[in-house]
Amino acid sequence: MQLITAATVLPGPAGESVPDGAVLVDGGTIRAVGPRSEVTPLAEDAEHVDFPGHTVLPGLINAHVHLAFDTTAEWYTHLNDSDDPDLLLGMAGRAQQALASGVTTLRDLGDRGGLAMRLRDAVDDGELAGPRILSAGSPITVPGGHCWFLGGEVSNESEIRTRVEDHAAAGGDLVKVMASGGSVTPNSPPMWQSQFGLTELRVVVEAARSVGLPVAAHAHGTQSIVDAVEAGVDTIEHATWIAEGGSGSDLREDTARDMAERGIAVCPGWPADWRHFAERIGPERSRAAIERLRWMAERGVPLILGTDAGLRGSAFRNFPNALGLYREIGYSNAEVIELATTTTADALGHGKETGRIAAGYAADLLVVEGDPLADLANLNRQARVLRGGERAVHPA
Ligand SMILES: [Zn+2]
Repeated sequence: MQLITAATVLPGPAGESVPDGAVLVDGGTIRAVGPRSEVTPLAEDAEHVDFPGHTVLPGLINAHVHLAFDTTAEWYTHLNDSDDPDLLLGMAGRAQQALASGVTTLRDLGDRGGLAMRLRDAVDDGELAGPRILSAGSPITVPGGHCWFLGGEVSNESEIRTRVEDHAAAGGDLVKVMASGGSVTPNSPPMWQSQFGLTELRVVVEAARSVGLPVAAHAHGTQSIVDAVEAGVDTIEHATWIAEGGSGSDLREDTARDMAERGIAVCPGWPADWRHFAERIGPERSRAAIERLRWMAERGVPLILGTDAGLRGSAFRNFPNALGLYREIGYSNAEVIELATTTTADALGHGKETGRIAAGYAADLLVVEGDPLADLANLNRQARVLRGGERAVHPA
């Protein structure tokens, strides 16, 4: 057993804070959390590590990554030039970079050949250090559509069903569907355009439900968002609300209301280095994009944390910087920490195992110097990362 004591323990939900707190870890599981005076008597012969002036919080969750992409401008060429063993090694390295930055759960929203599942299993078997990995495998797309090169092309409803069933049989954790076009695939439909209509999205959701898997829908165009929500997906990736034809936005009050009521979360997918990204797209576009996120947040749509890490300029090793964007949207520091832990775990369907510090939960913990409630930048001052009770391979 390990007894961790610190100046403050933040269990996850905003408003909860334990001064002079303690967390008792038994193997991979949290046994107890609370004031030091109450938890210490339970600790018996536990190894005691004290972190004066530090804060313990749940490990962070990055809900949108691509371990198979190497974050360079040439990621697409590198991906195609790598055979599976080489690619898998790179993926393992990037997963460890994420873990070392305090990310204890990653949701991989598109790789090829089931490699993220192999990595997940190797990590779970203790063969190498790494975060929890939830794998969508090859995203479902139309022939020649967004990210077709990952191997998830389907041409009709029966192929959709087969693909979902095969992914579940292979041990997949969720289904990803490219409801609209995207920006990284040459000669594919534009971002605003739907790749699948309501009927096909319903088939995706029904097929996924029948094998017990959640669905993440990549959707930039307004019509694709409206249809994905109507079909009942679990998360919308990007949710850019681009109008038909591609110019301007087309925000829909009724759809946002549905998302809030049904708890359909939005994962914006901005890189952790979001300030640089905002500079790249220019002040006008970035202001409009932040305004759209605020518009959703004000309507009660749950926003979760995810960076599209792997794409050009979206690193794995600096995830805590991603939280600053949510301050910009209007959340308090305590609320941002809740989003990056508890809210994101809930939206991914894993809120009973991770995303908070509570008895019976996985011992996924981050220990940082100082107080992140005073300054989120303190999340980068990491003293220890634990994933399932084990220390990260390179404590940052
Ligand atoms: Zn993505």
